[in-house]
Amino acid sequence: CKGQRCSGVQFFTKDMQRRLDARLTMEQGLLRALKREEFVLHFQPQVDLRSGAIIGLEALLRWQSPDLGLVPPMEFIPVAEETKLIVDIGKWVLEKTCATLREWQDAGVPVVRVAVNIAASQFARHDFDTTVEDALGKHGLDPGLLELELTESLSMEDPKGSIALMQRLRAIGINMAIDDFGTGYSNLSYLKRFPVDRLKIDKSFTSGLATNSEDHAIVTAVISLAHSLGLKAIAEGVETEDQLQLLRAEGCDEIQGYYFSKPLPEAAAREMLLKRPCL
Ligand code: C2E
Ligand code: CA
Ligand code: CA
Ligand code: CA
Repeated sequence: CKGQRCSGVQFFTKDMQRRLDARLTMEQGLLRALKREEFVLHFQPQVDLRSGAIIGLEALLRWQSPDLGLVPPMEFIPVAEETKLIVDIGKWVLEKTCATLREWQDAGVPVVRVAVNIAASQFARHDFDTTVEDALGKHGLDPGLLELELTESLSMEDPKGSIALMQRLRAIGINMAIDDFGTGYSNLSYLKRFPVDRLKIDKSFTSGLATNSEDHAIVTAVISLAHSLGLKAIAEGVETEDQLQLLRAEGCDEIQGYYFSKPLPEAAAREMLLKRPCL
């Protein structure tokens, strides 16, 4: 029995070691990725349900790794968050988004606002508004072209500081959305004080919309909550006509999902903006 316990402990530490090694390899890979510009952004359209026009894009990060191929964010963002590398990666995303908007504008592409995902640790930095302003200023962009997607968790540690920062960003003219709404520690008394423009209904609720009455009830309630607070509601992860029709019936303002388009590489996103009518 003593021996068994002993080998159990050994097995545990080996497993832990493996995970630590994997994390370290990933961390080094991400650092190199930043230096060698191995990150790319894909863009997924957001569509106005009434007019059918593209009214925005969400910038979604991918890592084009020479060793691992195209790595989806779920595989590296958690490590980036733990190691705080997300602050530098997030800066890159903001800079790249602004540079892309500038390029499109210079090429005569009818641009729309682009939403960027912001990690809690990025937002916790007091100079975050300066980072955003610098990126916009460097490329001479209208702040209204940028939207920040924040999650409910960002305000957990320092709600007062977060709200003040949001107010500063909003005062510059930047749009703000609460991402994955309903999946975090939704605190409605904070929501009331959040200077945001949009609530994003999480994919998990959209998926069940046509088949699950609880999901349908939640989606209906979130849309109505958004409207009562003077905010727009956008549903993410819309894949089917049924989901689209239900969202329309419930008065949802905007949709995003494979039904309309998958996230596209920059060249394809530019083509789409050129071909489709935009507001
Ligand atoms: P998210 O912000 O909730 O982004 C939506 C995710 O759903 C994206 O996955 C998108 O490709 C996917 N999606 C869109 N439409 C559909 C659909 O109709 N069906 C399904 N099944 N999926 C759909 P992706 O690109 O793999 O990103 C995953 C997550 O990684 C994002 O979730 C976001 O939390 C994070 N992320 C992505 N880019 C960044 C970034 O630049 N910074 C930070 N901090 N996080 C990012
Ligand atoms: Ca998002
Ligand atoms: Ca989301
Ligand atoms: Ca989500």
